[in-house]
Amino acid sequence: MTNRYDAIIIGGGHNGLTCAFYLARAGMKVRVLERRHIVGGAAVTEEFHPGFRNSTASYTVSLLRPKVIADMKLHDHGYRVIERTISNFFPFPDTYLKLGGGAGRTEAEFARFSKKDAEAYPKYDAALEKVANVLRDIALQTPPNVGGGLSALRNAAMQGWPLAKMDLATQRDLLDIFTKSARDFLDGWFEDDHVKSAFAFDAVVGNYAGVSTPGSAYVLLHHVFGEVNGKLGAWGHSVGGMGAITQAMAKACASVGVEISLEAPVAKVLVNNGKAQGVKLEGGEELYAPIIAANVGPALLYRQLVDSSDLDEDFNRRMKTYKTGSGTFRMNVALSELPDFTVLPGKEQAEHHTAGIIIAPGMGYMDQAFIDAQQKGWSKKPIVEIKIPSTVDDSLAPPGQHVASLFCQQFDPKVDWDKHREKVADLIIDTVNDHAPNFKASVIARQIHSPLDLERKFGLIGGDIFHGTMGLDQLWAARPVLGHGDYRAPIKGLYMCGSGTHPGGGVTGAPGHNAAHEILRDRSILWKALHRKR
Ligand SMILES: Cc1cc2nc3c(=O)[nH]c(=O)nc-3n(C[C@H](O)[C@H](O)[C@H](O)COP(=O)(O)OP(=O)(O)OC[C@H]3O[C@@H](n4cnc5c(N)ncnc54)[C@H](O)[C@@H]3O)c2cc1C
Repeated sequence: MTNRYDAIIIGGGHNGLTCAFYLARAGMKVRVLERRHIVGGAAVTEEFHPGFRNSTASYTVSLLRPKVIADMKLHDHGYRVIERTISNFFPFPDTYLKLGGGAGRTEAEFARFSKKDAEAYPKYDAALEKVANVLRDIALQTPPNVGGGLSALRNAAMQGWPLAKMDLATQRDLLDIFTKSARDFLDGWFEDDHVKSAFAFDAVVGNYAGVSTPGSAYVLLHHVFGEVNGKLGAWGHSVGGMGAITQAMAKACASVGVEISLEAPVAKVLVNNGKAQGVKLEGGEELYAPIIAANVGPALLYRQLVDSSDLDEDFNRRMKTYKTGSGTFRMNVALSELPDFTVLPGKEQAEHHTAGIIIAPGMGYMDQAFIDAQQKGWSKKPIVEIKIPSTVDDSLAPPGQHVASLFCQQFDPKVDWDKHREKVADLIIDTVNDHAPNFKASVIARQIHSPLDLERKFGLIGGDIFHGTMGLDQLWAARPVLGHGDYRAPIKGLYMCGSGTHPGGGVTGAPGHNAAHEILRDRSILWKALHRKR
């Protein structure tokens, strides 16, 4: 293998693979360097107990951009998504609520709690959809680079135009979403606590904040801008787990000649005279390319891989304080049988077993979980989402048995997790058991990912599932920081192509797509300049 490339990508997560694909498709010689033994980053499927496989970290798909799916021909490489009959099932102490399965069905379900809320639902849904459309439109567009001259101004004007064309009510909704707490936002639409908490849950996913924290409404929106098989807002299951998506991406990369190296951790970005020259691997090998694209998050890139002397003081300071830590605890469990919920009994597979099962009974419960986490590190009554993908995909567990993802929110990233992980895992299982009393006894094996485990295994600093907090201060042109929202690092030839750039976290493929676009743009400008000189 040569040690010279047109571009080197640090990290083989789904965005690194997406970026590599577009660059190689344009004729560049591209090498991807992945630290782990498997590509995919936070979108992988692994066996965690003999015979039981599951999506190790991310576990459900919606946000992956249709253009990326089409360009990479992912369906030809094995990508398939199954839709669920209903999206979510919420057990409460004395009742339950099912969300999804069509607007009419959700309205009827809400009417059991509040007729007024059932009537408000279609209007709420339509309003949110209009705002989500804005996010869909800008997801594959490079944010304007503040201080970036004429092209940035043109870019800002083009992205601002759809906003200016919006009706006033939608502009007001947009402002609410960006500034309000999920609680304040939902109070404006609904009266019943069951209904409100069914929507508010999305606001605390990957967000170390309460439903009453200002800005939390935006995270709610971030979870609804996707689609599955053309159905807007829907979430689905990737057959074979999330790893099937990144395996399909790796095949797409191979089809255009990308070289992928596994167990190839990058130790340093090599910089000379303010220009990126290549990378040094932990094993000492040096590889060279005029373009380096970092799929790793900004905190890892600028605190560990780039020498601080290659960055200016202000940038260093901002990267030191760049906010990470989504407060997420993630477990996989092998189950001998399905959970038997007190409020909806039965161990035979039913539609609620195929849904996202969400233990977040009430707005107060979710607020308290965050208050507890701030005071004690975690809540005695945590927020837990359970997904049992083996109910729709028989490739994951032996017949008659199951695997489940437990995705839990509000766990302080700063806790000494080596000390506390096992007892917190017990607490999470006990929490599910309070609602489904056969659950604890049905657990055959468990895999635990505390925030610290997520950092160690996936390189997610602070265990941040999104490579950085998704607050107004770290979004769009300010992701990761104002002046570098356009995928270009402050070092010439160094780019960022991961979730720490616009439009942020989730399995979207958008940062990888957009970064490749900017790299190719710079390259074509350079080519033109070189040709003019000759
Ligand atoms: C627990 C969890 C649950 C989630 N659930 C969902 C979900 O259900 N749906 C959803 O859409 N999103 C979900 N997300 C978010 C989503 O998975 C991530 O935002 C997304 O996968 C990040 O992709 P990426 O390519 O930007 O980065 P990553 O996937 O983080 O990829 C970065 C890659 O860089 C590699 N790397 C790190 N350091 C080095 C180094 N020094 N040298 C070389 N390589 C290195 C890593 O191993 C990794 O492969 C979840 C994330 C987590 C962690």
